[in-house]
Amino acid sequence: MTTVVVASRNRKKLAELRRVLDAAGVSGLTLVSLDDVPPFDEAPETGATFEENALAKARDAYAATGLATVADDSGLEVVALNGMPGVLSARWSGAHGDDVANYTLLLAQLRDVPDERRAAAFASACALVYGPGDDDSVVVRGVWPGAIAREPRGEGGFGYDPVFVPEGETRSAAQLTASEKDAVSHRGRALALLLPALRALAG
Ligand code: IMP
Repeated sequence: MTTVVVASRNRKKLAELRRVLDAAGVSGLTLVSLDDVPPFDEAPETGATFEENALAKARDAYAATGLATVADDSGLEVVALNGMPGVLSARWSGAHGDDVANYTLLLAQLRDVPDERRAAAFASACALVYGPGDDDSVVVRGVWPGAIAREPRGEGGFGYDPVFVPEGETRSAAQLTASEKDAVSHRGRALALLLPALRALAG
């Protein structure tokens, strides 16, 4: 068995990767979270791109543990805001992780933007670092296209889900079931792109 660190304390992220691996028939990987390894200094996320942040997180955990590590960074890119909030998604209103404040500010900023110019996409960069060298890594990006609604709807999901309507849907992302979201989300797509590298690691 090869142990892989999932550089997160969010059990849902670990469970999601487990489901993706199981569905693809990849056995031979034991997944552990940051809570399962000795504590180390976690650097703040200061990268200009999701890829930079994901790779930095994975490299830090690899350096501290010597174990192959998967890390992700994600956010919402709104076309009318030139790709913002982007890497600032979690702290768009100034308060880190205040989901309602973040999407309320976004809706206010887009109040006068007509429906045909409300396109947006969730993006997730996933990095796998499996060695100390510059080349011992893979970084992929999954994208989930859609549009920003005029008001929040739905109780599920988190973050900007209540104001994001996926392409081809009339419901918001917060009105999808967890498995519906998993099947098409940016993170699900990124993890799927990482599968070949994870399969190679599993041997
Ligand atoms: P993180 O990469 O998990 O730290 O997410 C960064 C931020 O992007 C979150 O705090 C949310 O605001 C937003 N975000 C990322 N993924 C999603 C999603 O699936 N739904 C809604 N918001 C998301």
